[in-house]
Amino acid sequence: MKTFSDIANPWIKDLATYESGRPIEEVARELGFESVDDVFKLASNENALGPSQMALEAMHENAAKMHRYPDGGAYYLKQALAEKLNIEPEQLLPTNGSNEVLELLGHVFLGPNAGIVMADCAFVVYKLIAAIFQANVVTVPMKNFTHDLDAMLEAIRPETRLVFISNPNNPTSTMVDEQAIDVFMSKVPDHVVVCFDEAYIELLPPEKQPDTLKYVKEGRSVVLLRTFSKTYGLAGLRIGYAIAPSACIDLLGKVRQPFNVNAMAMTAAIAALKDEAHLKRTREMIKEGLTYFEGEFSAMGLSYVPAVVNFILVKVGNGREVFEALKRQGLIVRPMDCYGLPGYVRITVGTREENERCVRALKQVLAQM
Ligand SMILES: *Cc1c(COP(=O)(O)O)cnc(C)c1O
Repeated sequence: MKTFSDIANPWIKDLATYESGRPIEEVARELGFESVDDVFKLASNENALGPSQMALEAMHENAAKMHRYPDGGAYYLKQALAEKLNIEPEQLLPTNGSNEVLELLGHVFLGPNAGIVMADCAFVVYKLIAAIFQANVVTVPMKNFTHDLDAMLEAIRPETRLVFISNPNNPTSTMVDEQAIDVFMSKVPDHVVVCFDEAYIELLPPEKQPDTLKYVKEGRSVVLLRTFSKTYGLAGLRIGYAIAPSACIDLLGKVRQPFNVNAMAMTAAIAALKDEAHLKRTREMIKEGLTYFEGEFSAMGLSYVPAVVNFILVKVGNGREVFEALKRQGLIVRPMDCYGLPGYVRITVGTREENERCVRALKQVLAQM
């Protein structure tokens, strides 16, 4: 008898399944903690402040309308974003998390004879998407934990369709600046689409945010990926968007599901965009948290990668062992062996109290090792 595996597409059955971790309640129970509040998670680069109060209120108000399908054209969200970013609604496509944009890009641009170029230590989902569409992956070594744009240019081949630049990059918390991007964009061949994954861009002070929107306005072959998961504290709702010239948005729109973005998410996102105070508090919390972590790590003699957004790579020896030991203390961070950085863990900046608990746990764990 044939198995499901026999019937499946051969390139699918060998794919690794993305490990997303177990619920924090289960981890707490397994480790013998009395309450989930004893366990805290600095692992997924979420906003420790939570969602904006304005988003919460909007969600409450709209809860009774959830028997209706969402607005499939995302009219009001596109209006709000277009106004905020000073672009046209036709240059926007809201999605079920910005990860959905990656999948749509795969449908439109990838296949067995296509390829992508990405940095070796960039966001791992690019690789997963390429594998689903049987596309070839060229990984380019980073320089100093940062995208090496010259080397990425060199790596572009005739079959390359997409080049991914995660900026700021997860998991390194480094970035390339506008000048480096401008040089890259002046040389990149026109048979590739350059994808700037800007999941963390709003966390940077405005003067440090590279202007990539200008390339959209000029009609260049670029797609920007943004999200409400990080800065806006709405990761649970799954909402992000693509920004691109309208001709590209039209193509991406052909392969999306009719109601890909849920109504609660759009309601919250529109409200969250208005809350400048929440954004300001978020940036301040991160700045303070990074200063604290960097000071403590230096004092402990640990090297770290200077961070630009709300997470930091720190070198701890055996990252996997330290991750396990921290977990026993009730702290969940992210080991980095899957990114080829077995000596490191990635820690998300939390509230001041969480950061202090984290440093105490790290000191204890390292003293025991
Ligand atoms: C978190 C993250 C995303 C966001 O994904 P969503 O699907 O919007 O939650 C995208 N890219 C990078 C590099 C990230 O770290």
